[in-house]
Amino acid sequence: MSDRPVRVRFAPSPTGYLHVGGARTALYNWLFARHHGGTFILRIEDTDRTRYNAEALEDLFESLRWLGLDWDEGPLVGGDYGPYAQSERLEIYQHYARQLVKEGYAYYCYCSPERLARIRKEHARGQQTGYDRHCRYLTAKQRADYEAQGIVPVVRLKVPLEGQTTFHDVIRGTTTVDNATLDDLVLLKSDGFPTYHLANVVDDHLMEITHIMRGDEWLPSVPRHVLLYQAFGWEIPIYAHLPVILSPTGKGKLSKRHGGVEVRYFREQGYLPEAMINFLARVGWSYDDKTEIFTREELIAHFDLDGVNKSPAAFSYDKLAWMNGVYIRQLADDDLAERLVPFLARGLGLEEEAVRRREELRAIIPLVRERLKTLTDIVDLADFFFTEEITYEPELLIAKKTTAADCALALERSLALLRELPEFSEETLETALRSLADELGLKAGQLFGVIRVAVTGKRVAPPLFGTLRILGRERVLSRLAKAREVLRPVVGEQN
Ligand code: GLU
Repeated sequence: MSDRPVRVRFAPSPTGYLHVGGARTALYNWLFARHHGGTFILRIEDTDRTRYNAEALEDLFESLRWLGLDWDEGPLVGGDYGPYAQSERLEIYQHYARQLVKEGYAYYCYCSPERLARIRKEHARGQQTGYDRHCRYLTAKQRADYEAQGIVPVVRLKVPLEGQTTFHDVIRGTTTVDNATLDDLVLLKSDGFPTYHLANVVDDHLMEITHIMRGDEWLPSVPRHVLLYQAFGWEIPIYAHLPVILSPTGKGKLSKRHGGVEVRYFREQGYLPEAMINFLARVGWSYDDKTEIFTREELIAHFDLDGVNKSPAAFSYDKLAWMNGVYIRQLADDDLAERLVPFLARGLGLEEEAVRRREELRAIIPLVRERLKTLTDIVDLADFFFTEEITYEPELLIAKKTTAADCALALERSLALLRELPEFSEETLETALRSLADELGLKAGQLFGVIRVAVTGKRVAPPLFGTLRILGRERVLSRLAKAREVLRPVVGEQN
């Protein structure tokens, strides 16, 4: 481990909504920084202007904030090493590109796109790949001619023609490549924008990054970066390339085909950020063979690079759903109620404030808590507490092995009974309705089923007696009466 104070960065390119893979990279960097009392930097790698997407940037900030991954330096918060968006640092890259040319580590290349396309085609037929290094060997006279024609060059790295480049990665071990396999990559484009390689290396150096943790799709770039560090004479940071995230079955990379893959999807589906953090931490990192649930503080205390696995990890939606349930059950009633508000408001088309003011909101928590896998589940489970418009097909009211007439009678008798019931508590309701079922020659489950559909509009709903108590006598009676009306034509047809 380097003896410099830990400085790590998450360096996304805002081209699309933040993917869970990116979120995990951010999380590991954040945990590592917090564990070592270091600094977590957010850097925006936005030099590819054709793929730039302003919405993606907003989404990035929002998603990181939602996950609670606060950055110590970066956009919106500033810091001593800024600016933190690469598009605002063009002169810095230009300066370093010129320096490399001056010192003989890089050269200007004047080749036209047409020439490059032609050699690419020729190479496709042969063995050789990449640029043919034509401009590496230009004479001063040739260079002056190109300049005189007004051709704006790119800058390319003069990769050593022989020898090897070796680097170490704390997760992946040591890799050696033959320099002959590397081509003279472009560092600075003719429009003055750097390539990823140049900007990334310059910034990691200037921002004094000590450890580079990123997805292992970047591993092939490392030899080029190492050559750049060597050309500049800079210290090479410690590399830790994180294993790729696989689909739930472990076959192939996780992709949209398997389900939602963007952080915003999970937020909108009602996953808790706590669960998401815990879950993502465990995709590729383990502490021991058994512990699954970690609070944020525990993750900070335990997280380190030696727990990061070399092999790819599968993304299990089932495990995430389970974990989310665990975290939902741990929330205090008021906290859970408040988190449900936006979901209910959106699902029911109500203002959040209107939902928040409803007495039922707090009252239903003990009834629904165990049944929620995600916060959105609340809408299907409990919408009938908040709306009077409950609709259902008459057939739903007819319990198994009963007739419409049986159920119509059951509704009428329940109405009469509940209208007179001295006290509308769970115990009195249960006792009264159980004996009514006996009287009617129905199974308790059959009668309860009819009443459940009448008051909730669904066969699966929170526990019945708690539901009746919270709805209150007036609403229960009016819904039973309405159900009786719904059945009337069906009963008529049968007679
Ligand atoms: N901008 C790169 C990305 O989008 C960053 C890679 C790195 O961390 O070096 O993932």
